[in-house]
Amino acid sequence: MSSSPLFISQSFPPLQYPPLTSPSSCARPPPERLVFLLDKCRNLTQILQIHAVILRHGHENNSILSFKLQKSYSSVGHLDRSFTLFRRTEDPNVFLYTDIINACSSRGFRFEALELYVQMLTQGVEPNVYTFSSLLKSCLIKDGILLHSQAIKFGFDGDLFVRTGLLDLYAKGGDVVSARNLFDTMPERSLISLTAMLTCYAKYGELDEARALFDRIEEKDVVCWNVMIDGYAQNGRPNDTLLLFRQMLKAKLRPNEITILSVLSACGQLGALELAKWVHSYIINNGVRVNVHVGTALIDMYGKCGSLEDARLVFEGISGKDVVTWNSMIGSYAMHGFSKEALKLFDEMCSLGFCPTDITFIGVLNACAHGGMVSEGKKLFALMRDTYNLKPKVEHYGCMVNLLGRAGHLDEAYELIKGMNVDPDSILLGTLLSACRLHGNIGLGEEIANLLISRDLATDGTFVLLSNLYASAGDWDGVARVRAIMKDKGIRKEPGCSSIEVNNKVHEFLAGDLRHPKSKEIYVKLEEIEKRLKAHGYSPQIDTVLHDVGDREKEQSLGVHSERLAIAFGLISTTPNTTIKIVKNLRVCSDCHTVTKLISEITGRRIVVRDRNRFHHFDNGTCSCGDYW
Ligand code: ZN
Ligand code: ZN
Repeated sequence: MSSSPLFISQSFPPLQYPPLTSPSSCARPPPERLVFLLDKCRNLTQILQIHAVILRHGHENNSILSFKLQKSYSSVGHLDRSFTLFRRTEDPNVFLYTDIINACSSRGFRFEALELYVQMLTQGVEPNVYTFSSLLKSCLIKDGILLHSQAIKFGFDGDLFVRTGLLDLYAKGGDVVSARNLFDTMPERSLISLTAMLTCYAKYGELDEARALFDRIEEKDVVCWNVMIDGYAQNGRPNDTLLLFRQMLKAKLRPNEITILSVLSACGQLGALELAKWVHSYIINNGVRVNVHVGTALIDMYGKCGSLEDARLVFEGISGKDVVTWNSMIGSYAMHGFSKEALKLFDEMCSLGFCPTDITFIGVLNACAHGGMVSEGKKLFALMRDTYNLKPKVEHYGCMVNLLGRAGHLDEAYELIKGMNVDPDSILLGTLLSACRLHGNIGLGEEIANLLISRDLATDGTFVLLSNLYASAGDWDGVARVRAIMKDKGIRKEPGCSSIEVNNKVHEFLAGDLRHPKSKEIYVKLEEIEKRLKAHGYSPQIDTVLHDVGDREKEQSLGVHSERLAIAFGLISTTPNTTIKIVKNLRVCSDCHTVTKLISEITGRRIVVRDRNRFHHFDNGTCSCGDYW
């Protein structure tokens, strides 16, 4: 009973009783009156006054008063006092035990709660339904299995509260099967049990099943809606998040902070700026308080939707910024390749006395990697370890490998990976492989690819990179070997998908897509652009195409990469000065990068592309990444 500081002192705390001013204190007040008064107590001083009366008039052995007093102390946050009272009671009954177990459990003192339960059984006191529902609040799934059998033993497993507690426990612990079994055999279901079950599906990605359950709930409260809305947002289904949010508004339910945070995350995932602005104005018009959490989510959303100006405006407006707010703004600058701004903000944050976290360092190291700032990156990496005592994680190594690799320090990057105290993941090794391709280092590239394959970490990206590496060196046998492996293993390239928001609607395109209603116009526009590009001296980089086809087909397959369809659609459906904003699921290929630069030059349009790694701002023939991505 000593794992928490709360229970170190077993002696009665030195109570200072305030003087009693009430005239009724002269007569001996009946216990019922004191019970009534204890129920009305709202602070420690009031409880201490009643406690003094109880002692003065010899009521300390009254079991109801003892129970009320113990409960009152813990209810105003003085668990130590209620614990001392409990310890001084000779034969505590089930109510006293349950109350103290509940108080411990509610504050997360899981060991203490379980120890009290064992002590209670040893002393021959039988638990009741509330003992179980109190214990279930804090326990882990392994304790839960034992408690479940205890509940069966004492005949409480059919109780709605106990079942809901168990269901919640199994759901949180990831045991979907046990949770489902309990749920299916429940004689009656409360909104709480339904919500617990819904949380359990939604949490483990079984969204369609969760949705079916959600649709069956007749009177949904805001918690129910939040679970489903957040489930979609967390599992990368932003369109469903927003659809459900609209339904929630239609159902005349008032969203709370949790709903808003999920919706902001969904807008960020979609990268849809108009939608983002609509949600922001909804927040303002409906009096949702922009506290530091909502503000930080707004910054993150605007950053991901490509509007650093809006992100910065929100950032400036937040009073009481915390480190997460700073991280969000620094991360947004880094993602857009505004490296100097990111580092400037980092200095400002440190000079204001904020202590940077590991997330802050991911932001600034990324900024250095995107800006090719090798010496600054090295200094920050050292600062993180030596000054702030932060152990670098695989993500930090990823930024460093990216920084060193792109700058051509391939061996140094590889040495850094070898010296890591964590296992490299596929992203980290893939980053180095990508740098090998950039610098045409076949030897190291092969070594890294073999490492990825032998550790079962190879993805379609690994083979595409390796094949491109061989192709750029003119090693066609190598290309053929990679292609054979891919065919053998049944590896297919993840399809590219780009989206663009026009008139509040998000339009999605796959490579070579013909499904869009304006398909014909889009392809006519693409052809027109290609003619103009060729007149401008452009020739397609067909070595980046990984198909067993002739050059003409390779050229055609590049020509219909998803972002080009989205850009062409943007050009025909927006007014001449509008910036075209594209979101792509994969990294932009170097041919599309060249083409987008040229399009920005010949059409005079600004084009912003968010790919898997970062933002590219194309303007008048150049890109903000400096061709370094
Ligand atoms: Zn491309
Ligand atoms: Zn770029």
